[in-house]
Amino acid sequence: MTAEETTPETKPFEALPLGDRIANFVVIVVPLIALAAAIVLLWPWGVSWTALALFFGMYIVTGFGVTVGYHRLFTHRSFETGPVLKAILGVLGSMSVQGSIIHWCGYHRQHHQHSDHDGDPHSPHTHGHGHGIGGVLRGLWRAQVGWMLERDRPTFARNYTADLEKDPVVAWIDKRTWLWITLSLLIPTVLGGLITMSWAGALLGFLWGGAIRIAFVHHVTWSVNSVCHIWGSAPFRSHDESRNNALIGLLALGEGWHNNHHAFPTSARHGLRWWQFDPSYLMIRVLEKLGLARRVRVPSSERQAEKRAA
Ligand SMILES: [Zn+2]
Ligand SMILES: [Zn+2]
Repeated sequence: MTAEETTPETKPFEALPLGDRIANFVVIVVPLIALAAAIVLLWPWGVSWTALALFFGMYIVTGFGVTVGYHRLFTHRSFETGPVLKAILGVLGSMSVQGSIIHWCGYHRQHHQHSDHDGDPHSPHTHGHGHGIGGVLRGLWRAQVGWMLERDRPTFARNYTADLEKDPVVAWIDKRTWLWITLSLLIPTVLGGLITMSWAGALLGFLWGGAIRIAFVHHVTWSVNSVCHIWGSAPFRSHDESRNNALIGLLALGEGWHNNHHAFPTSARHGLRWWQFDPSYLMIRVLEKLGLARRVRVPSSERQAEKRAA
């Protein structure tokens, strides 16, 4: 099932429980506190090459978990793969600490279904934020993190995720989200300790490969929801305010070509032009060459021409 094939859902759903809002607050704020702590520690301790390598390594691996796994495979079915790679991508996506796989995909399908209209869970345009720079900033804040803390945010409709709940691999991963979050912090901590054979190395591994990396992956991913619905170019007709933004394209491993993506949600390739760098699509092409990905979907040049904005 794709976002294009889901049933339109017009009724508000149940409100988000207080416990979930508190959990969201903790998950959003703690990595930012860790970032502040690391900046303070930077003066007496510096930052080691080991810590930086753990940061970039974990950023890339869990980033692909979100872009190739959560987004292009599980939400949009833009390619197919076997159960082992499916499980690996689902676990890596879960290690980004952006919510369980079924919740993430459900909210994202809901976003495509209602993009920038009532029912979109995180549009910067739907809540009457007013005009001028203040209105833009309020919309930006809501799309970035504010929507996860709202009391009357609707939970996603179950009809968006029926296919995922029936998938045994996805259901197994979804039930163990806290295990993947724990591993996501434990792996860089243990590696930092073992590589440097020191407790300080373990702490820097935890901070840079764990908490700070989570903060960066969070805000780059969430910038696709906020920045890429405000600033950039719109070469395709997509019935919403989605934009192609080169900076987010680069940082978010190709996800910032967001107007292309809203025009062709089931395409495995978001950077549709040769100069639109899309590492996530390159990764899917590598998987295809290795025989690990099949039925990789990309719109024909005729379909692209049909949707091109005048
Ligand atoms: Zn969008
Ligand atoms: Zn999408």
